Amino acid sequence: MATKRDYYEILEVHRNASETEIKKAYRRLALKYHPDKNPGDKAAEEQFKELTEAYAVLSDAQKRAAFDQYGHAGVEGAGGFSSGGFGGSPFEEVFGDIFGDIFGGGGRGRSRGRRGDDLRYNLTISFEEAAFGYESKIEIPRHQPCEPCGGSGAKKGTSARTCSTCRGTGQVRFQQGFFALTRPCSDCGGAGRIIEHPCPECRGSGRIRGKRSLSLRIPAGVETGSRLKLSGEGESGPQGGAPGDLYVVIEVRPHPIFQREGQEVICEVPISFSQAALGCELEVPTLDGKVKLKVPTGTQSGKVLKLTGKGIPVLQGYGRGDQLVVLRVETPTQLTARQKELLEEFARAGGEEFNPLGKSFFDKVKELFG
Ligand SMILES: [Zn+2]
Ligand SMILES: [Zn+2]
Repeated sequence: MATKRDYYEILEVHRNASETEIKKAYRRLALKYHPDKNPGDKAAEEQFKELTEAYAVLSDAQKRAAFDQYGHAGVEGAGGFSSGGFGGSPFEEVFGDIFGDIFGGGGRGRSRGRRGDDLRYNLTISFEEAAFGYESKIEIPRHQPCEPCGGSGAKKGTSARTCSTCRGTGQVRFQQGFFALTRPCSDCGGAGRIIEHPCPECRGSGRIRGKRSLSLRIPAGVETGSRLKLSGEGESGPQGGAPGDLYVVIEVRPHPIFQREGQEVICEVPISFSQAALGCELEVPTLDGKVKLKVPTGTQSGKVLKLTGKGIPVLQGYGRGDQLVVLRVETPTQLTARQKELLEEFARAGGEEFNPLGKSFFDKVKELFG
């Protein structure tokens, strides 16, 4: 046998990697090199075998210890899988455990068709709908189970026969070195059944193109990029296979006056120079309607006032964020002659006294530059 690579190297983990890290690494790499994903790719198949061998050793505390101490020699001669592949087939256990939820939800395609594809649906909603949640009806074009044949693909009154090559499992086991590997059966395409009299409606596929209406409850607090998963609402699987899932991806339309920052709603409100100087009471828009807000005397532009609890509800939680009101002081333009006169008089009456920030700034300038 050619020189074998180090198992840790194969799994791309440290020598002191935890059980979970090893499992994660295997899962990631096995998904990449899985024969189902790389049909006909010999190199990937080799990688996958190597990977599975490495995982079989490193996921078993005893074998791992032996490998750590003696290297490949420690695990090859020491029973385990020295001959005849896996007796009770821990490979399948590992495989089912890790891939069961990814490849063909449960049963791993056994005696049923392939799992249907997942679907993505983009849903654009308003700022308010995102904030408070909303019920929506959506229509999704997708493959649905064919009614006349009940999704089986076999003409009404007939039924599919169990594939004799794989005895209905959809998988063929074969021995490769000391490994027992499984592969989808080529005679039935992995379905485990062979349809002799296909249903004329769906031509044996077990599904037809249709539309599905769904009521959707969008929870309060979603934002752009939020994803809702509707299990089993994706494409139906061919020939009675399990359906895929539907992912509804949210996009929130921008609001003309509100912006969102996490749970907080930010709103810029312009106020006049005299409102800022003298103080005032403002009516400010919030998601719940207008509220009164007291602007203190001598307010500077950019001052932020908080309206507690007027923000966005916490997604699937309790409470709400706040609304932040950013005050922007507007400098008056297009003054009338009278206004100009008054402002000139205002300046003469001691502008510096009224502008403490400006005064301290120019005091500093004087200190620095004389
Ligand atoms: Zn078969
Ligand atoms: Zn049909």
